[in-house]
Amino acid sequence: MKIESLCAREISHSEINPPHLEAVYLSSSYKFNGLDEGIEIFDQRKAGDVYARYGHPNHRQIAHKLVDLEFGPESENGRALVTNSGMSAINTLITGLCTSGDKMICAHDLYGGSSDLFHLNISRAGIQVDEYDFSDLEGLEKKIEQTSPTILYLESPSNPVLRVYDIKALAEIAKKYDSYLIVDNTFNTSLIQKPIDLGADFVIYSTTKYLNGHGNALGGAILSQHHDLMDDRLLKTMRLNGSTISPMDAWLLGQGIKTLPLRYKAQQHNAQLLADFLNELSQVSKVYYPGLTMHANHDLAKEQMNGFGAMLSFELKENVDRFLRSLRLVTLAPTLGDINSLVLHPATMSHRNMPEKQRLELGITDQLIRLSVGIEHIDDLKSDILEALKA
Ligand SMILES: *Cc1c(COP(=O)(O)O)cnc(C)c1O
Repeated sequence: MKIESLCAREISHSEINPPHLEAVYLSSSYKFNGLDEGIEIFDQRKAGDVYARYGHPNHRQIAHKLVDLEFGPESENGRALVTNSGMSAINTLITGLCTSGDKMICAHDLYGGSSDLFHLNISRAGIQVDEYDFSDLEGLEKKIEQTSPTILYLESPSNPVLRVYDIKALAEIAKKYDSYLIVDNTFNTSLIQKPIDLGADFVIYSTTKYLNGHGNALGGAILSQHHDLMDDRLLKTMRLNGSTISPMDAWLLGQGIKTLPLRYKAQQHNAQLLADFLNELSQVSKVYYPGLTMHANHDLAKEQMNGFGAMLSFELKENVDRFLRSLRLVTLAPTLGDINSLVLHPATMSHRNMPEKQRLELGITDQLIRLSVGIEHIDDLKSDILEALKA
């Protein structure tokens, strides 16, 4: 063999003994042993990989892990599709379920990106998007009777003022009118809330947030027990949209998930302590955290969740910008769910595209600050906040 071929040929896979951690399969395609095998794998009569956009070993492994977390390791019908961002999971699911002329009703307080996606691209694709207050169950049912939506879509607790919606009651309404109920469970993870057990049809995650937890990889997931839709129509939509998670990001997500229960426990613990602490401060006028007994939906949260999460928001009476600039430990950055505590200013960041009137009606004032609580020591978090208030 000449040197050009020696350089170009792939090295053989011959580990003497296997590595402790699974490898990252950075290969865009997979080898067939002849035409017969190729045809069988393409036709899905034989298990096998084809091309990384269709799926790859790291996708298979992480999908398996997410199914275990959501449905338990014995689940037969549980399925996961893992995508290259939370947004692409949402887009894959909606465009996979709906055709032009279909309708969806979404809760009026959603993650800003989801709201923009529905009002711009999804509407442009001929799918009618209506918004409604999902705490008004009677009014919602009337609206569903009139519009016959394919999809009902919500987040609970919602972003950023942590409203809690009654998923069980919403699932009953969805069943009655033959609509799919989709719950974005990014804020909670399956550790504290399992929407499908409460009757939802599909769960969405931005795995970029708590599931990864370290802020180093984008990803998203669709989970469901509708195995017929997941194995066929939605899998095909993911492949055709080109939204499969990359091998590297899938691998990083797998590493992050290993410590999820430990991280989340510490974060929830800190969040409850910080909510109580903020509640006592004279410079703070409002605190939103479902774990506070004064929270409007505290009882519902206690009933449908197995914890109150680690997201909270609060209003300062004045000097919001100076406070945010004076924080030393807590970082001002537009994400959430990392091991580090993060603040965000919804009015100028996540909800900047929302008309001011609607934003204020939803309680997203210029004084509102959203806090994603990390795993730092509680004393350091408290003193960082106190120092920044004094600055
Ligand atoms: C971040 C986020 C998304 C979008 O996920 P990406 O991974 O950023 O694409 C969707 N829903 C919620 C609740 C989020 O916080």
